[in-house]
Amino acid sequence: MGTIISIINQKGGVGKTTTAVNLSAYLADKGKKTLLIDEDSQGNSTSGLSRSVTFDKSLYDVLLNDTSPEEAVVKTAIRKLHLLPASIDLAGAEIEIAPLAERESLLKRKIEPLREQYDYIIIDCPPSLGLMTLNALVASDSIIIPIQAEFYALEGLSQLVKTVQVVSRRMNPRLHILGILLTMFDGRTNLSLQVAEEVKKYFGSKVFRTVIPRTVKLSEAPSFGEPVLTYAPKSKGAEAYKKLSREVLKRE
Ligand code: ADP
Ligand code: MG
Repeated sequence: MGTIISIINQKGGVGKTTTAVNLSAYLADKGKKTLLIDEDSQGNSTSGLSRSVTFDKSLYDVLLNDTSPEEAVVKTAIRKLHLLPASIDLAGAEIEIAPLAERESLLKRKIEPLREQYDYIIIDCPPSLGLMTLNALVASDSIIIPIQAEFYALEGLSQLVKTVQVVSRRMNPRLHILGILLTMFDGRTNLSLQVAEEVKKYFGSKVFRTVIPRTVKLSEAPSFGEPVLTYAPKSKGAEAYKKLSREVLKRE
């Protein structure tokens, strides 16, 4: 039975997609059969893995058109890494899902059969605490919260933590925080160090030892449609996500 992990933070631009793509790639590289689900209508995870990937069905079709997940899942250039892509029509999905009965558990019901086929299923969440994110929380065993080591980093976090607590109490008792990940860290700035300290004060041992540095290679890789694993395997960013994958495997 596979483990489902959501990468979640209602803020945009904090490194969710970068983490989802690169963590998935390294889990696959370590021999774990991994599926990345792109749950953001922006489709950044989809384009981040787009080298040699074509698709015509997407998560939207799985959620709302009775397409089976197996039909929508595609192989990527990385062995053992599959992708359930997102397309722009996912932007309207929340409104279409809203009137349905059991609208919070739609994703869970659709992807539950996939658990048997994968070791890990990673969900890249959209930047909001709306219905799509709620669906991810209900479907997941655990979450990783990326936090950008910048000003206002902690803003909104207590709301996120409260949402996770409500979901685990009422809808999904398994749900827990697997770890907090500091991203875009720049050790030369006091600000990054201060944010790291505050995050550790708040979350203690939940904070991953691995910290993701701000590096050019990590921001370049998506435009080539590949994870750093293949784009720049010896870069600092690659090292960091490799280390994170080890830490995730250990915590699981
Ligand atoms: P989110 O999914 O939370 O919106 P992204 O992962 O898309 O965030 O990251 C936002 C932007 O920052 C993207 O352009 C991405 O390439 C860049 N970025 C993310 N992590 C890093 C990093 N560690 N170093 C440099 N750039 C990064
Ligand atoms: Mg994103």
